[in-house]
Amino acid sequence: MIPDETIFAIASGAGRAAIAVMRMSGPLTRAALVALCGGDPPAPRLARLRRLRDQSGTELDQALVLWLPGPGSYTGEDSAELHLHGGRAVTDGAAMALVALGLRPAEPGEFTRRAFLNGRMDLVEAEAVHDLIAAETEAQRRQALRQLDGALGRIYQGWSDQLRFMLAQQEALIDFPDEDLPPDVDAALAATLATLRHEIASHLNDARRGEKLRDGLVFALTGPPNVGKSSLLNALADRDVAIVSALPGTTRDAIETRVVLGGVPVTLVDTAGLRDTDDAIEAEGVRRARARAQEADVVIELSDTGAFTAPASATRVLVANKSDLGGPAPAAAIRVSAVRGDGLDQLRDHLAGIARALTDSSGPPPLTRARHRAALVEAAARLDAAADAGLAELRGEDLRMALRALGRITGHVGVEDILDTLFRQFCIGK
Ligand code: GDP
Repeated sequence: MIPDETIFAIASGAGRAAIAVMRMSGPLTRAALVALCGGDPPAPRLARLRRLRDQSGTELDQALVLWLPGPGSYTGEDSAELHLHGGRAVTDGAAMALVALGLRPAEPGEFTRRAFLNGRMDLVEAEAVHDLIAAETEAQRRQALRQLDGALGRIYQGWSDQLRFMLAQQEALIDFPDEDLPPDVDAALAATLATLRHEIASHLNDARRGEKLRDGLVFALTGPPNVGKSSLLNALADRDVAIVSALPGTTRDAIETRVVLGGVPVTLVDTAGLRDTDDAIEAEGVRRARARAQEADVVIELSDTGAFTAPASATRVLVANKSDLGGPAPAAAIRVSAVRGDGLDQLRDHLAGIARALTDSSGPPPLTRARHRAALVEAAARLDAAADAGLAELRGEDLRMALRALGRITGHVGVEDILDTLFRQFCIGK
């Protein structure tokens, strides 16, 4: 399983830059460094300036060279970094020299894949690396770092350890006659099983906070035509996303824009004016808007008459727009003027508070991926079956299936099929 090819890739961003980091990993790394630098590699983990030459002796660059011998490297293999000048000719020259030395360009995620295969990180941590690179907001970064730190993996590992222990007890119950065992093994097993079921259930019952923070929330703006939904969307997004018009029914389709509220990425959806209409296109817009509003995490209902269709709640915000024109507004509504900007800060704060509450990660690390959720749901179902199993042998089988489901999360059992899917999402050089 452990690859023997030596790979390389530019790990820094594409395009012209002051510095480009060329990374390599695999058994040929040391020889490649010696060939490029014309001498022994620098002492491990110390940056040294070296003149790099290709095989014909042509100078390629003056670069910082880092020699990172395994197994203490990111991938666990012999690795190195070249901090080259970022020009295209330099990086291409270095890449050609490495190919001539027998290295090959890395595939997306291949460095992290090797780190996993060499036991340097579990799958949950590898996913955290991906999330950290993709993190757009501070809260997402915090969540990814926490996962990278292994907090989430440790929870799953702890459950696996407990299950393994229960399985051992279970085998003992099957293999040994009653008199050889302490009398309470059976009861202890049932108690541990119940506790574990409870812990997994409460972990699953997290209102999808972690997944929501990773994927972002959806806030839908609803209300009749012409109350100012497009105007409010533009005001909140600080740019002209929606077309504002004095004609009712202009926003024919749902218009979306991404903003950051309370450190959480939020997609604001402007729904078409929700009214009954004979216009086929507009009717379709209304249908989509209703569907979007239904699946939204938060509904922001706008009114310019003071009348609303439902009371405010933790996930329903009432906004009385056009405060500049006066007019009535119930106490539960936030008064704003989308065109003049009055009340917008208060509205933004309120929405940010809701976004934070829906993704709050101050407690134990939340689930962050549907993949984990699916495996945990399966593990929980297997534990339920184990608790109900009449025969000891059947209970053992259920426990083993539960263990396998948990193992798939961290990558310790039956992972081949998910590896490709996971590492393909990565960028090259990671
Ligand atoms: P939508 O159909 O709900 O998306 O409404 P629009 O955003 O297109 O706005 C409809 C009309 O109301 C436009 O002429 C806007 O300029 C106007 N409008 C929106 N917000 C306000 C506001 O706060 N005060 C006033 N006076 N007019 C507004």
